Amino acid sequence: MSGVRRFKPDYRWEEIELLRYKAEESVTFKDVTRQLLFDSADLGCELRYFEVASGGHSTLERHQHTHAVLILRGHGRVLIHDRVFDIAAHDLVTIDRLTWHQFRAAADAPLGFLCMVNKERDRPQLPSDEELAALKRVPEVAAFLGQ
Ligand code: MN
Repeated sequence: MSGVRRFKPDYRWEEIELLRYKAEESVTFKDVTRQLLFDSADLGCELRYFEVASGGHSTLERHQHTHAVLILRGHGRVLIHDRVFDIAAHDLVTIDRLTWHQFRAAADAPLGFLCMVNKERDRPQLPSDEELAALKRVPEVAAFLGQ
């Protein structure tokens, strides 16, 4: 529907519900919220705003769909395949299909970002023990993952 929904304090928007990051309880993520900003049926895509609280992180996952991300608030780091990047507001992040990824907020700041995805998309895959071990063979990745 055409119109304007105003930006509100603390990165909320009018008429937008604050959702849990994922419906299921899980130990794979920590302190993440989700707001679905645009999902008109004719768009073919969705634009979401995720916010990882300071010290929190998204799920380490991969999937067939691509992520197009614009960092909007705060700073942190992102793991993309076997590389770790510092990220801050207004950086653009591309996650190609079937690429392991995880977002982590800094210890002293949240990490808020817009994420565009296909409306029709596959479910994320989690790494097997073997895949996790392979990722951790890169010291920078092991440090990022916290062990
Ligand atoms: Mn993902």
